[in-house]
Formats: sequence, structure tokens, C-alpha cells
Amino acid sequence: MNIQENISLRELNTFHIQAYARYFASFASAEELEEALMAPVNARPMILGGGSNILFTGDYDGLILKNEILGIDLVQEDESFAYIRAGAGENWHKVVLYCIERNLGGIENLSLIPGNVGASPMQNIGAYGVELKDVFHELEAYHLKDKTRVIFTSRDCAFGYRESVFKNRLKGEFAILNVTFRLNKRPKFNTSYGALDQELRKMGVEDLSISKISKAVINIRSSKLPDPKVLGNAGSFFKNPSVSVPTYDQLAEKYPGIPGYPAEEGLIKLAAGWMIEKCGWKGFREGDAGCHALQALVLINYGEATGGEIYNLSQQIKDSVELKFAVRLETEVNIY
Ligand code: FAD
Ligand code: NAP
Repeated sequence: MNIQENISLRELNTFHIQAYARYFASFASAEELEEALMAPVNARPMILGGGSNILFTGDYDGLILKNEILGIDLVQEDESFAYIRAGAGENWHKVVLYCIERNLGGIENLSLIPGNVGASPMQNIGAYGVELKDVFHELEAYHLKDKTRVIFTSRDCAFGYRESVFKNRLKGEFAILNVTFRLNKRPKFNTSYGALDQELRKMGVEDLSISKISKAVINIRSSKLPDPKVLGNAGSFFKNPSVSVPTYDQLAEKYPGIPGYPAEEGLIKLAAGWMIEKCGWKGFREGDAGCHALQALVLINYGEATGGEIYNLSQQIKDSVELKFAVRLETEVNIY
């Protein structure tokens, strides 16, 4: 096992923050992971995927392990469903395309989300009305301390809105090795998000298909979201908060037009991006840290911003949203 020292993480996180890992290794199988964990420099192991949902606020004084477990296989099928297992190191969008090419429905709305398969259950990735949990069957994970392999069902994962047990109670304890998805052989289309419906109409689509939905999602995302290769970012920095109906009603009286969507447990989901914009942050830039001009929910590293500067900006945004709307935003990105 080749364990390297003082490795730059700049190209390994989509914020392109310059930070160094004290120790670094890649693994392409559970056996290689086990070998790396037996090294004398195995303190504070952190599993890294595509680096698209993390912010390094300083150097990482521990062992970063990059997951490169590959493979996409059809492992089981019945009349209605196909079960596809993908290695945690596979690129997420590649798996989406694999399913679309075989007319297996369920994840087309999740097209073009950056990152790898292994991180997809971490925050139950979601977009355009679909969440990972809608197609999740099971995953296999490796306990970094006990050195055991464990199967997690959907229930075990305790998926919530951009949440799972891996982001909370079991944070940092497991390396996800592979994920099995249950795809629909007779796809059902979900075009409930206004922006998606509008784009499909703009495209002149009459006969819906999963590949057309995927194309529409790709069009919207490409026109609206900054490409991390050009502008460092980690997507939405904050989660959309949910409030009670009376709280929403009070906000709507004070701020007519404030978006609100039905959420879990009878709550109303607010659009964090809208509130941030109303606080005047959209397009803000100080030094190289800023807020995207087209979507205020996305914080940007224009070049040489430090993780600390991005983090400080995120705290200022949280404070101002709380002052104006009495709602405290929660960070979605994983901070290290
Ligand atoms: P990383 O950033 O590498 O890791 C994220 C966290 O997961 C870290 O804590 C890491 O330790 C842990 N982790 C990673 N792999 C494993 C593993 N195998 N086992 C255990 N722990 C692991 N997210 C959405 O939900 N919806 C979107 O629509 C969306 N759009 C985005 C758009 C842009 C432009 C960007 C930059 C990001 C977007 N994201 C979105 C966020 C991000 O792409 C997802 O959260 C993605 O799943 C992160 O994958 P990753 O491999 O890059 O994870
Ligand atoms: P948008 O269309 O400008 O909408 C703003 C917010 O309103 C979204 O965050 C979305 O919540 C919510 N929303 C819109 N229509 C809705 C509906 N019909 N029902 C329920 N909620 C609705 O959002 P956007 O920024 O362009 O993003 C589009 C989609 O991609 C969203 O689903 C978003 O989550 C996803 N995305 C996620 C990230 C990330 O890093 N997590 C980055 C980019 C895009 P939800 O976010 O809960 O869906």
C-alpha cells in the first residue's frame, strides 16, 4: 500500500481550496482499504469521493482515503425491477447514463449531480423532486474500526431531507463500498418541478421518456449552475429549512411571494436561496470568496479563497438570514 505524505487536495475538492492531507492513499477494493487502515499512519481516516460536497477549512491532519472501487452490474431482476449494483468510486452521472441507456427509470431527475456513488446515500442526494431513497435498495459498508462489512437497508440508512445516518450518528465510522439501486423497468415520469416542466416544453417534447427528462435536467443545470471546473463550488451550501404552517403564514404576510413547498411532517419547506438573495448576497464577492450571481445558495471560490474565508462568508449569510427571517440555515456541505 502506497501511503503518500503532504498531498495537495486542490484538485480533489470542487471548491479548489488549497489544503494538504498529512497522509493520503487510494483504494480500489475492501481489501486495499483494510491494508491502508493497518498502516501506522492511520489516524483520523476520512473517505473521499469526488470532493463535491466538502469544504476544507485547513490542512487535514490525518489519513485521507480516496475511494476508487469501480464496477456497475445488473445483479438481479424481476418482472418490474432491475437491481443495479455500483462500486462506490463510480462517477454518479455515469451510473445514471447506464440506467437510461437500458431504459431503467428512477434516477433520470438526478442527472449531472457531481460526485461518486459512495457519497450518494450520505445526504440522500436529491434534485427535481426525486431523492436517492426513491431508488435505493441496499448498500454494503466497511466499519473502519471493527473491520467488519455491514449491509444497510433503506430503513437502516434513516434517510431524510439531505440526511442519512452516515451524516449524523455514524459520521466517519463507515466506508461505503457499493450501492444497489432498484430501477423501474416501466419508468414513471416525475416532472412535478415547474422548471423541469418548462424546459421540456421549451424543448418541444411531446412523448416523454427518461432520456428526454435527463436531457432537460442537464440543460437547466448547465445554464444555471456554475461548472466547478471553471468556478470552485460545492453546489448548495445550505439546506432548505422547513418551518411550521403558522410560521410560514407569518413570513408570507411580511414577505409576499416567499416560496413555500409542502415538506415532511406537515411542515413547509422554504427556499434558502430566495432568502439569501433577499438579504442582498446574490452576486456578492469579497476577495475571492463570493455568492453565485445566478443562484445565491451556491458559494464560490473565485480562485485563491481559503476554506476559512468561505466558511466565514457562510456564517455571515446565516446570521443575516436569521436576522431578517428568524430562520437559522443549516449547512449542507461537510466541513473539515
Ligand atoms: P465527497 O464530497 O467526496 O464527500 C462528501 C461526504 O461523504 C464526506 O463527508 C465524505 O467523507 C463522505 N463520503 C464520500 N464517499 C464516501 C464513501 N464511499 N463512504 C463513506 N463516506 C463517504 N447534491 C444533491 O444532493 N443534489 C444536487 O442536485 C447537487 N448538485 C450539485 C451541483 C454542483 C455544481 C455541485 C458542485 C454539487 C452538487 N451537489 C448536489 C452536492 C454533491 O454533488 C453531492 O452531495 C455528491 O453526492 C457528493 O459526492 P462526492 O463523491 O463528491 O462526495
Ligand atoms: P429552483 O428551481 O430555483 O428552486 C428553488 C428551491 O425551491 C429548490 O431548492 C427546491 O427545493 C424548491 N422547489 C422548487 N420547485 C419545487 C417543487 N415543485 N416542489 C418542492 N420544492 C420545490 O432550484 P435550483 O437551485 O435550480 O435547483 C434545482 C434542483 O436541483 C433542486 O431540486 C435542488 O435541490 C437541486 N440542486 C441541488 C444542489 C445541491 O448541492 N444540493 C445544487 C444544485 C441543484 P429542493 O432543493 O428541496 O428540491
